[in-house]
Amino acid sequence: RAKAAGRGGYAIFDGDMHVQAMKRMQLEHDLRVAVAQQVFALHYQPIVDLKTQQITGFEALIRWDHPTRGFISPDEFIPVAEETGMIAPISRWVLQTACEQAAQWRSQWPHRHHLRMSINLSGYDLRQATLVETVQHVLTQTQLPAHILTLEITESMLIEDIETAIERLLQLQELGVRISIDDFGTGYSSLSYLYNLPANYLKIDKSFVSQMQLGNTNYKIVEAVVTLSDQLGLAAIAEGIETPQQLNWLEALGCELGQGYLLSRPLSTEAATALLSAQST
Ligand code: C2E
Ligand code: MG
Ligand code: MG
Ligand code: MG
Repeated sequence: RAKAAGRGGYAIFDGDMHVQAMKRMQLEHDLRVAVAQQVFALHYQPIVDLKTQQITGFEALIRWDHPTRGFISPDEFIPVAEETGMIAPISRWVLQTACEQAAQWRSQWPHRHHLRMSINLSGYDLRQATLVETVQHVLTQTQLPAHILTLEITESMLIEDIETAIERLLQLQELGVRISIDDFGTGYSSLSYLYNLPANYLKIDKSFVSQMQLGNTNYKIVEAVVTLSDQLGLAAIAEGIETPQQLNWLEALGCELGQGYLLSRPLSTEAATALLSAQST
């Protein structure tokens, strides 16, 4: 009801809307240029076995170095990409690049053939019937065994259209790729669906991990999700581990896998390769 606020209020409201709209149009424009020129990069964050401290694989995370604004968080530009359909070429590029990288590391260090690669998909991708074909195509082309690839789907995008999602996840699992439910605990999925969900991993959202204190609500939520994963026959992955204390608690609770700044930040291709190289000699 901006008009009711009188002329002054109306002008401020209108001006603010205008600024927001301009910013959004600028971002959309810049994103379109970025997509056309493929100026994105992938960083790779290790996923670690909490018992052995061994790296079991990496999660590919997209990075956009904007010409004037510097790095823009995927949390800011991925939603814009989803709304405009630009997510399709972006996801295709992420899939291709991450699979090529995983294939390259495999050929460089054949004895580390268990190293896995995870990528993030959006709800838009999941709704495309062509997704399964595209994934198959990229696996064939890069000669990457399907079981090396994990597709991360957030819990909240699953529940938008659970029937289609389940069907698509089943098709993907038939290819041999693995499925990870990302940001688990923030999306309110129904328990009855969860028990029939075609998935391999549950990723405990970092908001729970970061707020853990011995015996508090977040601690109990993490404990419950680890137990639930176990019951569903899935492996639990804790995100956002930043302190040795959190790491100890998670390990004691029986959480198998973890990620976080304490273990490693997301690394450039060069840094990830150097890390593997240092561990392989
Ligand atoms: P996500 O998939 O849940 O990724 C985890 C986010 O937590 C990443 O942020 C990662 O850098 C950050 N992180 C890792 N360890 C820690 C930690 O110890 N503490 C804290 N505070 N944060 C940590 P990032 O890279 O900014 O990505 C944000 C989100 O953007 C991702 O959340 C994912 O939903 C989305 N995203 C990233 N890359 C892609 C992509 O290639 N495609 C799509 N569709 N989405 C992507
Ligand atoms: Mg993820
Ligand atoms: Mg997450
Ligand atoms: Mg997230």
